[in-house]
Amino acid sequence: MKNILLGMTTAELRKLARDLGEKEFRGKQIADWIYHHGVKEIAEMVNLPAILREKLTENYMVGRSSVLSMSKSKDHTFKLLLGLVDGEKVETVGMLYKDRFSCCVSTQAGCPIGCIFCATGAGGYKRNLTAGEVIDQVLAVQEAAPKDGLTEGNGRVSHVVFMGMGEPLLNYEATLKAVSLINSEMGIGMRNITVSTIGYVPGIYRLAEEHLQLTLAVSLHAGDEMLRKKLVPGMTRYSIREIIKACRDYIKATGRRVTFEYCLLKNLNDGREDAAGLAALLRGLNCHVNLIPYNDFPGNIYERPGKAAVDEFRQVLEEAGINVTQRAQKGAGIQAACGQLRRQHNSR
Ligand code: SAH
Ligand code: SF4
Repeated sequence: MKNILLGMTTAELRKLARDLGEKEFRGKQIADWIYHHGVKEIAEMVNLPAILREKLTENYMVGRSSVLSMSKSKDHTFKLLLGLVDGEKVETVGMLYKDRFSCCVSTQAGCPIGCIFCATGAGGYKRNLTAGEVIDQVLAVQEAAPKDGLTEGNGRVSHVVFMGMGEPLLNYEATLKAVSLINSEMGIGMRNITVSTIGYVPGIYRLAEEHLQLTLAVSLHAGDEMLRKKLVPGMTRYSIREIIKACRDYIKATGRRVTFEYCLLKNLNDGREDAAGLAALLRGLNCHVNLIPYNDFPGNIYERPGKAAVDEFRQVLEEAGINVTQRAQKGAGIQAACGQLRRQHNSR
């Protein structure tokens, strides 16, 4: 198979141009074609000399995915199922708001962790994605966005959240390279990038050392060890205590507030005492909690708590002085929780 240009930095493309006997600035032109114009073929890079395009085409291809399906919901959320060069499938979601355009990217095809409430986990694990395959999702979402003038921006993705399929910190190098490409090649600010982890402690320490201004989100889902083991059976090597300790060190090293995600499941982790336990655990930490009422998907047995239970949970946290946000229920009706579309497609 040919080498893939997508995922290379401008510096790497400059070096490639030089290695092919061309001026280095050609590398910058190639980067512009890939990351700004979103071309899919080398032949479309019309300001390159024909001889360079020929030389490139011998051993390289752009490496973009193909859109296998797209589903839209009424609330300006849309989801793409992308086919990768080896036939694997991943999902990515675009969310259009008044003031921002957010893209949710996957970092693995499937996920090895297997959280009991997650469609991705239920679908099994295939492989890590490359950095190119991650940034491809941002380009694909940008290209597929409905052009009805919803965003105030220029139609470009402004925020990227690593909350799609897979565990980003188990695919550390590609995730970090993708973050760097999204920032430097696509011009999306570090503070507009969020990486979500299920609590892979060594990855949190490693990320702390990068001193990045991105937001780290940690999916906790429980304040109690036994309960967490039940909900997140694939990450029992690290206790809640160790995760909190890693987060404390992360905050110290980066000066950034950490987000804790908590998927609320009816009668499992949504009680008053669960909220009180969580509040006690997070006391004094520079953090905020994002509550995500469970999103149902076919074949699962769990339920979303009612509004009263969610409000009460939130209130307990707030009374303890913890900042709480609740994820807007976007994408209902398009199987928007990641992993759901791929499952549907695979079982057809
Ligand atoms: N693997 C990483 C990132 C991807 S999952 C992680 O777990 O953090 C991103 C978020 O989606 C997680 O916080 C997870 O709890 C949430 N999620 C997964 N399945 C869900 C579902 N069925 N309903 C609501 N949230 C879900
Ligand atoms: Fe993997 Fe995150 Fe889903 Fe858990 S919630 S199975 S870690 S993608």
